[in-house]
Amino acid sequence: MADQTPKWVYSFGGGAADGSAADKDRLGGKGAHLAEMSRIELNVPAGFTISTDVCAAYYEQGRSLPEELKPMVDEALEKMAAIAGAHFGDVEHPLLVSVRSGARASMPGMMDTVLNLGLNDKTVEGLARRTGDRRFAYDTYRRFIQMYADVVLGLDHGLFEDILENYKALKGFELDPQLQAENWVEIIGAYKALVAKEFGMPFPQDLREQLWGAISAVFGSWQNARAIAYRRLHDIPDDWGTAVTVQTMVFGNKGDQSATGVVFTRNPSTGENALFGEYLLNAQGEDVVAGLRTPQPLTEKQSAANGNGKASLEALMPEAFAELKASCAALEKHFRDLQDIEFTIEEGKLFMLQTRSGKRSTQAALKIAVDMAEEGIISKQEAVASLDPARLDQLLHPTLDPNAEMTVLAKGLPASPGAASGEIVFDADEAVHMKAQGHTVILARIETSPEDVQGMHAAVGVITTRGGMTSHAAVVARGMGRPCVAGAAAAHIDLERETLEAGGAVMHKGDIVTIDGSSGKLIKGRVTMRQPDLSPDFATLMEWADGFRRMDVRANADTPADARHARDFGAEGIGLCRTEHMFFQENRIVAMREMILAETKESRRAALAELLPAQRQDFIELFEIMAGQPVTIRLFDPPLHEFLPSEEDAIVDVAEAMGVGVAQLKRRIAVLSEFNPMLGQRGARLLVTYPEIVDMQARAVFEAAIEAGAELHDRVRPEIMVPLVATKRELDIVKERILVTARAVEEERGTSLAFQVGSMVELPRACLMAGEIAESAEFFSFGTNDLTQTTFGLSRDDAGRFLGEYADKGIINHDPFMTLDAAVGELMEIGVTRARAVRPDLKIGICGEHGGDPQTIVFCEKIGLSYVSCSPYRVPVARLAAAQAALKSQL
Ligand code: ADP
Ligand code: MG
Ligand code: MG
Repeated sequence: MADQTPKWVYSFGGGAADGSAADKDRLGGKGAHLAEMSRIELNVPAGFTISTDVCAAYYEQGRSLPEELKPMVDEALEKMAAIAGAHFGDVEHPLLVSVRSGARASMPGMMDTVLNLGLNDKTVEGLARRTGDRRFAYDTYRRFIQMYADVVLGLDHGLFEDILENYKALKGFELDPQLQAENWVEIIGAYKALVAKEFGMPFPQDLREQLWGAISAVFGSWQNARAIAYRRLHDIPDDWGTAVTVQTMVFGNKGDQSATGVVFTRNPSTGENALFGEYLLNAQGEDVVAGLRTPQPLTEKQSAANGNGKASLEALMPEAFAELKASCAALEKHFRDLQDIEFTIEEGKLFMLQTRSGKRSTQAALKIAVDMAEEGIISKQEAVASLDPARLDQLLHPTLDPNAEMTVLAKGLPASPGAASGEIVFDADEAVHMKAQGHTVILARIETSPEDVQGMHAAVGVITTRGGMTSHAAVVARGMGRPCVAGAAAAHIDLERETLEAGGAVMHKGDIVTIDGSSGKLIKGRVTMRQPDLSPDFATLMEWADGFRRMDVRANADTPADARHARDFGAEGIGLCRTEHMFFQENRIVAMREMILAETKESRRAALAELLPAQRQDFIELFEIMAGQPVTIRLFDPPLHEFLPSEEDAIVDVAEAMGVGVAQLKRRIAVLSEFNPMLGQRGARLLVTYPEIVDMQARAVFEAAIEAGAELHDRVRPEIMVPLVATKRELDIVKERILVTARAVEEERGTSLAFQVGSMVELPRACLMAGEIAESAEFFSFGTNDLTQTTFGLSRDDAGRFLGEYADKGIINHDPFMTLDAAVGELMEIGVTRARAVRPDLKIGICGEHGGDPQTIVFCEKIGLSYVSCSPYRVPVARLAAAQAALKSQL
């Protein structure tokens, strides 16, 4: 008959183990790694781990342990006893154990642990006789009573501390080590009296009762408030449960050849390949955690660096240190990652108590990955896969000095990373003006619009009091690599008085503020910063990543400055150049407005002709900077009204500047006004109805290609992209205009042009009709910002109002404007399939905000896109994410 009892208890110790590192789900990280350390014959005190399945059973049975567990635990205790040479409950050879928590994911310090279990009035005497140290035995007993009372009986440990402190004061002791056995005996008497009074029952003398009590309490600690909050924060499922490890105690508190400590196999903040740790002499693990004594540096190197004269373990116990060093090297090699290790030295003998992957700074993560690959511990693929692309961002922007003091005035959304200090200004033109005079400014607005773009560019950082992660300010700032705090609702901006009020302070124009776009903080005054310093490791890792990547990475860049950044960060072309941004510049917007106000084709053509030279010059520069790499130029996309003033004062000003009547201007504004401009006459619809715009833009592109091409030996290959296409016919009409212009330019210049005409795919209809559209389009680019808006029927400028609540209520689990929504993804997939059925080699990219999002990039790899395009500062992130996606897809 098959054995029906599941395996619930896994022993380890003595160079062997039932479980291994692969059993994290059952044994928790701690239990699985203790088993693995035993297997590789490191010196691990013997013990056993009760699986997470029992945790589930414990909660199913209303917080009680299943009866079947008991014989399994008894058997495991026997095995442990045989290795340890001591027995649980044996008065002469008492076995002391720790009862430790440990979940699948590390939750440091969130759950409970009981140390020194197995002591009662009889075994404490046995321990004293065995060790020949009564002081130690009774010190250990009182530690146990205190911890057990706290964790298992739920008594406030402060009460015990009071007893100890009062006792010391009364007897004139200053430090615990001065207390002798008799003193501890007296204190234990007081502790037991306290337990009897507070708990209503004497302190348990039955060792089994102690053990079951501790095991139950540790399972119970899975549901303590601290642990629950931690799981929320780190997305750890509630149903994983914790395992419980029962392990032979070793003692770091047995005199000056004993110690306990923590070591990282490399420096977790710099990544330097040198042990880094701290220890306490003559102490137990709990003392380190409690932070009652200041730990000492582990190595001589550290000791020299912090120069506080405290002796290192390396100097004090060279032999144990050498063994620790060897164990660290073995563990790092075995787990192939930085390890964070707990150890104890008992009378000169080293014991390993825990190992796990160490948390590290981004800088350290980068260095460790590159070093380990170069040392041959991991492969280059693993080095590339080990880095979280989202965290690369931190390396590319200045950050606040973590040790600096600061007065935080308000908190908003961390919309674009990096920190910046400058004089606060409330107007975009003022920002431009002040920058020209040599000031460093932070632009503060209630929200921003395209008219503010120049001001945002002039500023070193942007803060808004309204709007979300995909508000205009956030998107544009990320694109420019400007730090941005968006939607700091607690700050009040008075544009009239030019003040910002927050946190009880009033900041006037010109006052210095600091924003931190990585944490969303607005801070009063200047804060010291750390400059990004891109180590050679960065270049090395990127080069490896590029070698594994299938998709190209391009950048969204509208200006020469953006294009240069894009190239510096390794972009392989421009995936989106939004031409309309070129028209917001001071000297061009006048001609632009004339074009819009023109009521006849002729006057419109005349206004456009004025814009042509400037536009052509922009393209020449872009082509030259990109030096033969592909440049995708999107034809004019926004609704025209965006270029017209809306407020009364501004209308009067503009009318005057243009020499037209206020009434005439207002009439034109009224004619152009739409109920839903984002769904109105824009994109292809505008280009079909105002074909003169296409003519001018296509001419600017072609003339620029020829002029730049002369220098670049005809390597310029513009890709002209038509936005918001819904039907093949729209694309055909616009494409025909482009071709006519191309032929005209070719004839005029006596040369031939190489270029492509393609389509943005940003409407659900375009995805579904992709097969048809691909007959005319020579390339596709998914505009996932609009595609998300149109798939959800949701305006991204208005979504900020309720997306937060939607997230709280579990309606969405991420912002669909940041990480691609599954339905939008499905539409893309349909588009790719239908288009490639017609044109198998069709080049397809993505150029929405999502193009720089690592999760979205994995999806893009899966559906076979040719490239992703994102803001210049996200290019390194995308290069790494695309490499990881390619590696993943090969598995
Ligand atoms: P946490 O997960 O909070 O770190 P641990 O179970 O690791 O809890 O234990 C807390 C402290 O007690 C650690 O410093 C650990 O090294 C120490 N400790 C745990 N078990 C033993 C043992 N068997 N012998 C000596 N020290 C131990
Ligand atoms: Mg620990
Ligand atoms: Mg769009």
